[in-house]
Amino acid sequence: MYKVLVGEYIDDEAIAGLQEARDVKVDVKVGISREEILDIIGEYDALIVRSVIKVDKELLDKAKNLKIVGRAGNGTDNINIPEATAHGVIVANTPDSNTVSACEIAIGLMLASARNIVAANNFIKSGKWEREIFVGSEMFEKTLGIIGLGRIGGLVATRMKAFGMKLVAYDPYISDERFKRYGCEKAKTLDELLEKADVITIHTPKTKETVDMINAENIHKLKDGVRLVNAARGGLFNEEAVAEGLRSGKIASFGYDVHTVEPRSECILYEFENAITTPHIGATTYEAQRNVGTQVVKQVLNGLRGEIVETAVNLPAIGREEFLIVKPFINLAEKLGKIYFQIEKTPITNVVLNYYGEIAEQETALVDSTAIKGILEPVLKEEVNYINSKPLAEKRGINISINKKEHKYKNYSSAIEFVITNEEGKKIYVVGTIGMNNEERIISIKNHDVDMAISDNMIYLGNEDVPGVIGAVGATLGKEKINIATMNVGRRENSAIMLLTVDSEVGRKSLKELRGLSQIKWAHYLDLTI
Ligand code: NAD
Repeated sequence: MYKVLVGEYIDDEAIAGLQEARDVKVDVKVGISREEILDIIGEYDALIVRSVIKVDKELLDKAKNLKIVGRAGNGTDNINIPEATAHGVIVANTPDSNTVSACEIAIGLMLASARNIVAANNFIKSGKWEREIFVGSEMFEKTLGIIGLGRIGGLVATRMKAFGMKLVAYDPYISDERFKRYGCEKAKTLDELLEKADVITIHTPKTKETVDMINAENIHKLKDGVRLVNAARGGLFNEEAVAEGLRSGKIASFGYDVHTVEPRSECILYEFENAITTPHIGATTYEAQRNVGTQVVKQVLNGLRGEIVETAVNLPAIGREEFLIVKPFINLAEKLGKIYFQIEKTPITNVVLNYYGEIAEQETALVDSTAIKGILEPVLKEEVNYINSKPLAEKRGINISINKKEHKYKNYSSAIEFVITNEEGKKIYVVGTIGMNNEERIISIKNHDVDMAISDNMIYLGNEDVPGVIGAVGATLGKEKINIATMNVGRRENSAIMLLTVDSEVGRKSLKELRGLSQIKWAHYLDLTI
């Protein structure tokens, strides 16, 4: 039974979700004091906080059972992430809970300002009626410039593509694949985007680089009549410069949800009818507010149950859509990783993970970490999780390298290849893929081509390439009441192997029986559930 401490407010539906989980005992202590939490944290497997409770070294040192900290919300300033990582504690926030809402307000501001909706609304309500003064612009076939192609920028791209816009994006910190995936032309510099776009929306965090991204110095580079949107953070577009642009007509409209200073009753932009604004309500939707609670609970339950925590912040961020694409490979990589220490007993010095085909075009950080977790798990058990797997491996003297390569397994749309070098200099290859219906398949083991679905219980045999082996293996397992589900044979030069999936666990006695057969050189049980 996992013990979860809820130390700050989350909504009732979320608490109910925790209480319904049969493997969880929940204590809700909203407003708990520092002294009390330090006193009791040692009992808990998970902690849910917002922004008040400080999860620092002192707390983490006392939190002997802690596996995950769930942050209901985005910022993690109150959590010492490097310390949590060093303690093997997953930290997960709820960044996706408001991304759709934030994206939709950006689009709302874009359309409302381009079509003068607010001014027209106010006009009618003042008792007047006219059309000619509210001529607006279509989005269709215009070029949308997106600064920051992260979670929200990506959602905006997908939606505005459907409006028939051409997309150009500037984000120097993401791979070319991401631009391709969202159908965006890559602007190599900010200036390139400023010069090309008819409409510009920004979706970056606020950093030294992003403050005043449009300013008095570069505003002349914008197209005449450009439309701007900022639903990210106040001050990303310099307010004075934008006011000047609106005054001169360089900027046709500005829609913004965020101000340099918040809250605020005066702003240089309020005098412009074509600058429309909202009081930072991007995340103020029923859905976003409910999502925060349900998402933090989901992440905490996943973390406790050893499942993937999509929003772990001590791992590179990955969007929901990308996560769904890589998810089957995450599970596959973990299982393939578990094979090494079940067939070899020599310490590892080097792990190379090679990605081929479609998976090579994805962000694979989560797959990398679970692959390493899989390798170490048979040896380290629960000491390893996918947060600490890479640092743990490196501490153990294992070099890790990740490559995305030209496709070599052309019969498969994607493949992951493990090349594990051990202390004796021996290289062990294991290769897998995802087949139809997301089935995990192994396609090569120790350079023998095989092609079979992976199951929890497998037997891997080396045998003489002579008649009668299959019958002998079948009879021996039959005697042990072990049912063979599938069988695959691989031969190369003068070596032959067999890979079997079986319906039940294989005990030591059964393995001994197999090893005793004259045609069998060696036999290993692969328990991929461990
Ligand atoms: P994200 O981390 O997923 O994406 C941010 C992207 O900006 C990343 O791809 C990053 O590479 C890019 N970036 C960073 N520095 C850059 C630079 N100098 N030039 C170009 N690109 C750069 O973040 P997200 O979840 O998409 O959030 C985007 C913004 O929206 C954040 O500022 C967030 O605070 C804000 N936000 C606002 C509301 C609201 O209520 N209005 C709600 C949610 C999020």
